[in-house]
Amino acid sequence: MQQRHTDIAIIGAGSAGLSAWHAAKKHTDDVVLVEAGEYGTTCARVGCMPSKLLIAAADAAHRARQADVFGVNVGAVEVDGSAVMARVKRERDRFVAGVLDSMKRIPASHRIRGHARFIQPHTLQVDDHTQLTANAIIIATGSRPSWPGMLEPAGDRLIVNDDVFERDTLPESVAVFGPGVIGLELGQALSRLGVRTRMFGVGGSIGPLQSEKVRQTADEVFNHEFYLDADADVKHIERQGEGVAITFIERDSGRELTETFDYVLAATGRQANIDRLDIESAELSLDEHGVPHFNRFTLQCVNADDSESHIFITGDANQAVPLLHEAVSEGKIAARNAANLDDVQVGRRNVPLSVIFTEPQIAIVGDNRPSLEARYGGCDCIAEGGVSFDDQGRATVMGENHGYMALFAEHGSGAFLGAELLGPRVEHMAHLLAWALEQKLTVSEMLAMPFYHPVLEEGLRTGLSDLNAALKQGPAITERCMECGPGD
Ligand SMILES: Cc1cc2nc3c(=O)[nH]c(=O)nc-3n(C[C@H](O)[C@H](O)[C@H](O)COP(=O)(O)OP(=O)(O)OC[C@H]3O[C@@H](n4cnc5c(N)ncnc54)[C@H](O)[C@@H]3O)c2cc1C
Repeated sequence: MQQRHTDIAIIGAGSAGLSAWHAAKKHTDDVVLVEAGEYGTTCARVGCMPSKLLIAAADAAHRARQADVFGVNVGAVEVDGSAVMARVKRERDRFVAGVLDSMKRIPASHRIRGHARFIQPHTLQVDDHTQLTANAIIIATGSRPSWPGMLEPAGDRLIVNDDVFERDTLPESVAVFGPGVIGLELGQALSRLGVRTRMFGVGGSIGPLQSEKVRQTADEVFNHEFYLDADADVKHIERQGEGVAITFIERDSGRELTETFDYVLAATGRQANIDRLDIESAELSLDEHGVPHFNRFTLQCVNADDSESHIFITGDANQAVPLLHEAVSEGKIAARNAANLDDVQVGRRNVPLSVIFTEPQIAIVGDNRPSLEARYGGCDCIAEGGVSFDDQGRATVMGENHGYMALFAEHGSGAFLGAELLGPRVEHMAHLLAWALEQKLTVSEMLAMPFYHPVLEEGLRTGLSDLNAALKQGPAITERCMECGPGD
């Protein structure tokens, strides 16, 4: 057994771990990165990149099928599943190769291969070959798909996102469980690629949407394209022959149907890779899921006796905001603090921004309405405006006039607070809004910005005007809202 000591040990060479490694190196030469699985990151191997590659193929098929709207006849659209998957894998492998190249720049002496688990608060056991003691430890172990027991009867036909990208061709049919971010993206893409798809959810949620108007619009728009029952009544799931038989109540007819699918795709959430860390030996304060309590701005964990720990937790492992840019940002903050345990500082966090690459796209900027209401603690401080994309000029020109955006601002100050967007290519508009939020702009300041013609952002201007009209402004309200609102 090798005994080794280091300043900072990082568990997990994913996006958060790699970001932490590079940031930590600016403070100390003594950093060790431990990785149990394949190098290459979840994002490049089975996450952001292969999913967007599949979506790009799906969108190409969809565009071709929609071409007749413009009087362009491209004939029957044929999807070659093997060619689609070949490109997905080829480009995916190029992205992974890029990560592997950057791994090579990390000297072998700074890397250990193997599964790390705690045996003491400062000591990790890596497989059965190394005991690594560290002054500070950064947990960057990511997450993995999880599914409810009700899907287990699908047996070997139960798949997750990782499996989709490993296939050599497309299946004939898939039942997608979970219309969350991953389910919506993959489900719509598979459907556009000609895979018979039904999507089932529980409780009515669609993606991260909290605004009822936006959620309802999403329900209608997606249902035009594929079957989505966000509040499904699934009676029975059974492995049968070459597939899985699912008995469910059809949403509009109320009939009980039994249909067979090649696969059940579980997109029902992800669980933090904390459970295999023997985290109890780290003597941390844990929540009910066994995830350490931590400070979101320093990433520092809390000891069981409530004191500050030398352990930090980043990326999907802490389950706070499971997004790539947040993992990278958290890795940097944790590394800076792990290297300066006597001077742990709050790191700068960007405003919340997330994009779901469906069509229409979904984007969330800032806090959603329930979070804002919780933040303002019952004060009637939030103005809401909105606009439909149904008649928006540029969206109509492109034949993509579907969606709705809900925008929020603070009465009194007129400060822009956030938005839920469902609309064509809103990934770009979401960035404008996030930047406005970072700059703490008011709605009237945003309306004073230039808007070209004819662009989708003119829809945003209409939404902002609606929001502006809903704003109550004046000194009395300003005082009240500045008192209970977040201020700066
Ligand atoms: C299908 C899909 C699509 C996505 N699309 C997007 C998107 O469009 N945009 C976006 O922002 N985000 C997206 N995400 C989320 C994004 O991929 C993650 O937030 C990000 O990859 C998390 O990085 P991480 O470093 O926390 O975890 P990972 O990259 O998973 O790294 C964790 C590493 O830790 C290792 N590890 C685990 N346990 C141990 C242990 N005990 N010892 C040693 N090593 C260990 C693992 O092997 C792994 O290499 C998507 C995710 C999925 C699944």
